[in-house]
Amino acid sequence: MDYYSKEISKLIEELSSLPGIGAKTAQRLAFHILNMPVEQAQSLSHAIVNAREKVRYCKSCFTLTDEELCPICKDQGRDHKVIMVVENTRDLVAYEKTGKYEGVYHVLHGAISPMLGIGPNDIRLKELMVRLEQDVDEVIIATNSSLEGETTAMYISKLIKPTGIKVTRIASGVPVGGDLEYIDEVTLLRALEGRTEL
Ligand code: ZN
Repeated sequence: MDYYSKEISKLIEELSSLPGIGAKTAQRLAFHILNMPVEQAQSLSHAIVNAREKVRYCKSCFTLTDEELCPICKDQGRDHKVIMVVENTRDLVAYEKTGKYEGVYHVLHGAISPMLGIGPNDIRLKELMVRLEQDVDEVIIATNSSLEGETTAMYISKLIKPTGIKVTRIASGVPVGGDLEYIDEVTLLRALEGRTEL
């Protein structure tokens, strides 16, 4: 059932392997790309390869960045004694967009999920604990309000408690199961301001 030439089929196949892209969308995108000027298609493919090759994890907070230390960790104007723990870089960006958070972050790259077989060692938890050996006043846990996010929050708070560092959890003005990145800035700020000590 190969209606297309091999190259077109390959392009559709690659596009449909992306999250949220079904067969129909992949076809639509493929034909959109095929109708682009060659320079534009080259620029798109270069952007993909460049980003993939140059982007790495910040050595301090583990967000995705193209430098050894991300701009937030480098910024001496921020409060490095307050660390907000988020599940991924998209959540970090959501909080950055509020423009009101002045601390730094720690990106876990996931959440604990016994159902999916994701344990504490599969996320960047050890790295967080290493950071806490430095002078830290507060850890704000801003994992999602999903079952996994709550499980992770509880686990982290139990881990940190013995260190004597203040642990807080963002308020649950955030809809249950809601991904942080889809929540508006006002709700995010309210959740941050209404955080409670664990
Ligand atoms: Zn960083």
